[in-house]
Amino acid sequence: MAIASINPTTGETLKTFTPLTDAEIAAKLDNAERAFSTYRQTNFAQRGEWLNNAAKILETNKQQYAEIMTLEMGKPINSAIAEVEKCALVCRYYAEHAAQFLADVAIATDASHSYVRYQPLGIILAVMPWNFPLWQVFRFAAPALMAGNVGLLKHASNVPQSALAIEAVLLEAGFPPGVFQTLLVGADRVANLLKDPRVKAATLTGSEAAGQSLASIASHELKKTVLELGGSDPFIVLKSADLELAASTAVTARMLNNGQSCIAAKRFIVEEAIADAFTELLVQKFQALKVGDPLLPETNIGPLATPQMLTDLHKQVQLSIQQGCKVLLGGEPLSDRAGNFYPPTILTNIPPTSVAYDEELFGPVAALFRVPNLDMAIKIANDTSFGLGASVWTNDLQEQERAIAEIEAGAVFVNGMVKSDPRMPFGGVKRSGYGRELGLHGIQEFVNIKTVWVK
Ligand code: NAP
Repeated sequence: MAIASINPTTGETLKTFTPLTDAEIAAKLDNAERAFSTYRQTNFAQRGEWLNNAAKILETNKQQYAEIMTLEMGKPINSAIAEVEKCALVCRYYAEHAAQFLADVAIATDASHSYVRYQPLGIILAVMPWNFPLWQVFRFAAPALMAGNVGLLKHASNVPQSALAIEAVLLEAGFPPGVFQTLLVGADRVANLLKDPRVKAATLTGSEAAGQSLASIASHELKKTVLELGGSDPFIVLKSADLELAASTAVTARMLNNGQSCIAAKRFIVEEAIADAFTELLVQKFQALKVGDPLLPETNIGPLATPQMLTDLHKQVQLSIQQGCKVLLGGEPLSDRAGNFYPPTILTNIPPTSVAYDEELFGPVAALFRVPNLDMAIKIANDTSFGLGASVWTNDLQEQERAIAEIEAGAVFVNGMVKSDPRMPFGGVKRSGYGRELGLHGIQEFVNIKTVWVK
């Protein structure tokens, strides 16, 4: 894939970049290695000061960074501004808490004193997706840099300006050159980077295919990985739920980021008793959404990030229809305008053998299921190869407990939509990946957990 910013609203190529040569990649690796040898000696207070500076820079220039994202991948401008603010939040969170999360932990043994010490690993390679161009990177970088590691970013090829902006923010914040570098390279360079002995571990957020490819090379190299892959999150609505709130949250949970979020609610599983009322609300609310130019603050849904995303999504919808699904709303790309626009779409009557039943639909398409009871809701919720998040709507405490206990996912949110929060771990089970980002668990992924025993 060429490395270029192409505005998904107009199809206009904004800027193209020449991928780094092998010699340039080697020089960046040398820089990273050199930077690590001194950066690892810095203390938490110093790293925290730099990270707090980064938070300030992000907040001061949030409009500018938001516009870069909106122009490169089409997210509505207000969401883009909120994303920049969230990046500042994660910087401040780890600046404040890293010292406590990575403090020595005393453990009583037969030694005079024994304890666990957390030490950085070295160069960590981050392979990142375009859907949250700043957030995905900062949620890796903030804990990794606070832990004393250095980062190499291979961002998605369609968001190079976001990738360069992140490196510039961290440099301006005071992090020494080489501590965080962007590599403008295609996916074909990831294997060699991972095989370089100086790269100690890798994290990838993206598709299953990319995750498998990276993990297989990393396993051969015996290097640790964290994988944040796809999701097909269930959104279960039971009869005791606040229906109006559930329906309006369902719309946000499905449509956030033009429907292109790993933790978007994708399968709406609704108890029969309230299914007609919920469906009516969902249709009304989907119809009221404004699809259009994502730079306009009143727009709810912008274009999909690339023409390929549009083609792939529409193929999945068409195939689902051939396999027996019914279209309640939408279902055809918007051909009255330039850009990669797909309308809010609802599929229902979903046969278990259809694409909409078990594939991830990465766009503004909801799959709607009707179930007789909670047993069936949990069965369908778990009948997927993914296990990222789940949202359950019920005011019955026993039902809440059962959902928390029985749903196979990295997160269960009761009466709320699934979201990431710097304070809570984030990650999946099954084919949604492994390892955790954010919170205490996230900062402990890329460290040497060293056992120390002294007599
Ligand atoms: P993608 O094609 O896998 O791309 C993600 C990143 O991986 C890009 O930097 C891409 O580089 C690179 N890549 C692609 N193939 C690779 C390979 N074989 N080896 C190494 N790197 C490779 O993913 P996408 O379609 O852009 O993103 C959407 C997917 O990401 C969805 O499935 C979504 O659910 C998932 N996602 C998951 C999370 C989470 O936290 N669990 C968060 C966001 C998104 P190029 O751009 O150069 O191809």
